[in-house]
Order: sequence, then C-alpha cells, then structure tokens
Amino acid sequence: MAEATGTDALARAASFSATLAPRAQEFDRTERLAPDVIEEMAAAGFLGAAIPVRWGGLGLDPLAYGELTETIGKACCSTRALLTVHTSLIGETLAERGSARLKEKYLPDLAAGRRIGCFALSEPGAGSDAASVSTTYVGKGDVFVLNGEKKWISFAGLADVFLVFATDNGAVSAFMVDRDTDGVEVHPMSGLLGNRATHMARVSFTDVAVPKENLVAGIGAGFGFVANTALFFGRYSIAWAGVAIAQAALEQMCAYATSRVQFGVKIGAHQLVQKMVADAVSNVAAARELCRRAGRSRIERDQDAVMHTNVAKYFSSTIAQQVTSDAVQVLGGNGCWSEYPAERLFREAKILEIIEGTSQLQQILIADHGYKSFAGRHGGNLS
Ligand SMILES: Cc1cc2nc3c(=O)[nH]c(=O)nc-3n(C[C@H](O)[C@H](O)[C@H](O)COP(=O)(O)OP(=O)(O)OC[C@H]3O[C@@H](n4cnc5c(N)ncnc54)[C@H](O)[C@@H]3O)c2cc1C
Repeated sequence: MAEATGTDALARAASFSATLAPRAQEFDRTERLAPDVIEEMAAAGFLGAAIPVRWGGLGLDPLAYGELTETIGKACCSTRALLTVHTSLIGETLAERGSARLKEKYLPDLAAGRRIGCFALSEPGAGSDAASVSTTYVGKGDVFVLNGEKKWISFAGLADVFLVFATDNGAVSAFMVDRDTDGVEVHPMSGLLGNRATHMARVSFTDVAVPKENLVAGIGAGFGFVANTALFFGRYSIAWAGVAIAQAALEQMCAYATSRVQFGVKIGAHQLVQKMVADAVSNVAAARELCRRAGRSRIERDQDAVMHTNVAKYFSSTIAQQVTSDAVQVLGGNGCWSEYPAERLFREAKILEIIEGTSQLQQILIADHGYKSFAGRHGGNLS
C-alpha cells in the first residue's frame, strides 16, 4: 500500500514538475512563489509527503520522499525549499517529537497544507552556534512569554505557525507559535543570492504569550532533542536538493555541449569539455547513491543514519556547487545570462553549502566520525 502511495505521489510530482519548471525563473525574479503552486502542492499531498498517514500525510518512506524532493527540486529550488521547511523541519519533527496534544492540534492542518509551518532557529547573533540563541522565554502561569528576534526564516512571510527556539539561562526549549499571536512581527527580507522565492523574513517576538501546551518536548530539550532532530530531517532533504540541482545542471550542460558549435565541431567534442561532463555524470551518480544510503539507513533505523545523512548533505552540496559552476562554464556567455537556467542553478547550489549546517560544520562532524571509526588502535582521541 505504501509502495502504491509512493508510486502515485511520484507520478503526480513528475507531472507537477513539468508545469513548474518553466515558472522557476519567474519566481526567482519576482522573489515569490505563486499561490496556485502552493495550493497545487497541498492538493497533491506533497506538503504532507513525509508526515504519517494517521495525521493525514502520505507517509512516504525516506527513499520515496527523497525521490519526490529531487523531482520537485530539479524543477524549482524555492518550491522544493517549501517541502524541506514545512514537511521535513516542521511536519516530520512534530510527528517525532511533539506531544499527542500538539500533533492533534497541528499535524492534520500541516499535512493538508491548510497551515504552513516554518523553522525559526537562527538569529542575528546565532548561526552555526545555534545553541547560543538569545531569544528568551519565561514561564508565567499557563503561558510562556517569548522575547527576541529571529533572522533568515524561510517562508516566514507566509507561514501560519513558527517552530521557535528560545533560552532561559541556557536551557533551550522549542515552542509552536501561531503567527496571529500578539507581539509577533514579520519583516520581509529580499536580495538573496538564491532561494529567492522563499518568502524569507526576520521575525520579532515582543512579550509573546504562548500556551504551555505548545512547548515541544520538555524544558531544555529544544536544542539536543528538537533542533537536532529537525536538522537531521532537513539535511536529508537538502542532500536530495543538491542531487536535484546538479542533475538539472548536468542536463543543461549536455544539451548545450551537443548543440553549440565552435572551431567547426560541437563543443562537446572538445576533450576539456568532456572532462567537465564526465565529472558531472560521476558526481551526480555518487551523490544520489549517498542519499539513497542515508535513506535506507533511516528506514532500517541504522545507528549511522545521522552520519550517512551528514555525509550525503556535505557531498551533494559540494558537488552541486562544482557541477553548476561547470555548467556555467560549458554554456560560456549564455551561462552568465538569466535567459538560461545555469546561472540560477549556480546561485542556488551555493545556498546548500550554507543552510542546515554549513559545509565546515559537516566536515567537523564527519572528521570526528572518521577518527572514531578509522583510527584503529589509536582510538580516535585527539587530546
Ligand atoms: C537561504 C537561507 C535560508 C535559511 N533558512 C533558515 C530557516 O528557515 N531557519 C533558520 O533558523 N535559519 C535559516 N537560515 C540560516 C542558516 O541556517 C545560517 O545562515 C547558517 O546556519 C550559518 O549561520 P550564519 O549565517 O550565522 O554563519 P556563521 O555561523 O556566522 O558562519 C560564517 C562562516 O564561519 C564558518 N564557521 C562557523 N563556525 C565554525 C567552526 N566552528 N569551524 C569552522 N568554520 C566555522 C561557517 O562555516 C561559515 O563559513 C537560512 C540561511 C539562508 C542563507
């Protein structure tokens, strides 16, 4: 049954993406997603793709969800970002970490796309060191009162509910905060390198009273238990986003190399161009296999699932940067022009090396894993 659901969803995603792809350039230019795209995603069930069936989602397993992410991400990066933020960072996290009451309150609406969720962790002073958030909460009677500011919040411009991380003297906790609560203000941001149609905003919280039942997991569980879980799901989606962008760039590169003529031959016949194509073919295939390994280890609840996901995210965002750069190179002047998708893919790929933990942060985690796994008798101890 789940397999049939996955197959149906992937077929719907393929036809949705065929109409989406020609609009990606327009969304990038206008810095907004058209409302009908979000409505269509909701109607097709994509906004609940990885949310369990009992809460109204499609309940896709990680491999099917990854393929869905690649299909939509290849057509439009900002549309795929909605999937990552709403479905992975919020939906999957709430399904995994939320109380029964919170799941009942939010998951059916999130799965159906009746409400849009966004993830509010980063702040002007807290990025990679996310546990150092300075937004505060204080318990008062039957509410928590939040004060502070979040920055870089994808889809805050249109979200109905925010997963907000705040601290009480170092005890970081997570809260579901409804947008229409008094004291919540959204300040749109524009001028981004990529992910331009993600309705990015700063969000300020001034004496925002949040019902105590909206605490996700326990007091002090916000970073280790909630944010880390969300980032695990989010990184998995971003890993597939890298494959999507790189695959799109590879197709651009091959189509151009086999049509453009210079020095009397198709440029694809020049061996230096072939080198770029060969690297792209190999790297895209390798990234996809790393994503699949991460997906399988999630299904099997393998203890290395987190590390496999970090490796997949790191590798796929790195190669997406390389492949899109080479696509621009193969297209020459046309690669630098917005009439061709290569320059947008190049900008989108760079974003993947920054979000959900920068490449440097992934390298630190992966190296640590390397020392522990492969140092042999030295035991992997650096001190
Ligand atoms: C398009 C986009 C969408 C985003 N969406 C969201 C969102 O929806 N929700 C949200 O909460 N946040 C979001 N973010 C924020 C994103 O998570 C942060 O930008 C990211 O975590 C990096 O933080 P920073 O920008 O403060 O950079 P910094 O943490 O200041 O890092 C700057 C540089 O220093 C390096 N660095 C930092 N610490 C170390 C270290 N220990 N060792 C080596 N190098 C280090 C980093 O790798 C990076 O190269 C988004 C950002 C962008 C650009």
